Amino acid sequence: MKKIVLYVLILVILTFVIPFFFTKATVDSKPIIGVNLEDNEEHIEEQEKKQETQQEAQNQEVMEYNYNDYNTIKLLHTKTNTIEELPLDEYLYGVVSAEMPIDFELEALKAQALVARTYTIYKIMQNELKHGEAHVCDSSSCCQAWISKEDRLAKWEEKNKEENKGYNVEDNWNKIVSAVNETKGKIITYEGKPINAFFHSNSGGATEAPVDVWGGTGYPYLQTVETSGEDAYTQYSSEVTMSKDEFVNKMKQKYSDFQINFDEENCIQVQAYTAGGRIKTIKIGNYNLSGVEVRSIFSLRSANFVVEIGEQDIKFSVKGYGHGVGMSQTGADSLAKQGYNCEDIVKHFYTGIEIVNF
Ligand SMILES: [Zn+2]
Repeated sequence: MKKIVLYVLILVILTFVIPFFFTKATVDSKPIIGVNLEDNEEHIEEQEKKQETQQEAQNQEVMEYNYNDYNTIKLLHTKTNTIEELPLDEYLYGVVSAEMPIDFELEALKAQALVARTYTIYKIMQNELKHGEAHVCDSSSCCQAWISKEDRLAKWEEKNKEENKGYNVEDNWNKIVSAVNETKGKIITYEGKPINAFFHSNSGGATEAPVDVWGGTGYPYLQTVETSGEDAYTQYSSEVTMSKDEFVNKMKQKYSDFQINFDEENCIQVQAYTAGGRIKTIKIGNYNLSGVEVRSIFSLRSANFVVEIGEQDIKFSVKGYGHGVGMSQTGADSLAKQGYNCEDIVKHFYTGIEIVNF
């Protein structure tokens, strides 16, 4: 009998009393000083888990907010100055088909859909009120390019006539719809918030951090990354040639006291390169300019260029197309051809990000 009582007592202790102490220890955990390392490690792990959970809770808040508010987009048509309301994904069909060639791999188009959805939601959350009532406009130089299905199909038909593309235009459209639908409800986040998903045409081999393009910081997910295979695309290399007079005139339009002596050695000299291999600063005559500014003055495709002074002419040999920040579209296609899926592609171009459902 005594034995049975003892067993019951042990059972009670094992079942209720000991777990109670463990539970209590977990709930009440406070910074512990002067304990052995193992305990401390447990504590750190626990703190990390706690932070993760708090982060998840924050994510949840952000995502719920997105879901309720951003399923309908008010799009400003810049040509007619009219606002159209349309479902988010329908808006994205028009963005993906305007921003990326239909011949690109499906996984690249899906990456573009992910990026475009993220960019849209980020923009709306910024609440810039740049377009009055509208969330976004259809201009690629301001927001993202957008084209209606009707216009898109007509352009593909045109390509069939002019370039013998042999497109089945409905199949093309279905490919766009698949790219958007297969990433439905997914966006790219960093520390629980939608990222500012910059993208461009061709990186010339390496992307750029925003600090080297626009100055300022605050985008830890936008780092320089290298991508192989970008040289296979027509956007990779270009040339701009002009007479010396034309060169001087273009500089004088911006800086009226500009002077240069082309006979002088080092009259044009690169001072520094960016992490992504573009021109950071360059001395041209009596001016020190950023590569970005030179790009703008001479309408170059990127700030990754080499200048050659000839007998008569000045020649810029340019690599890449666009500002170089975030996802390169041809890079995305190149990676897709190498077997990357859309999530791998996005993770390649944006550092330390997550792809989440909202
Ligand atoms: Zn805009």
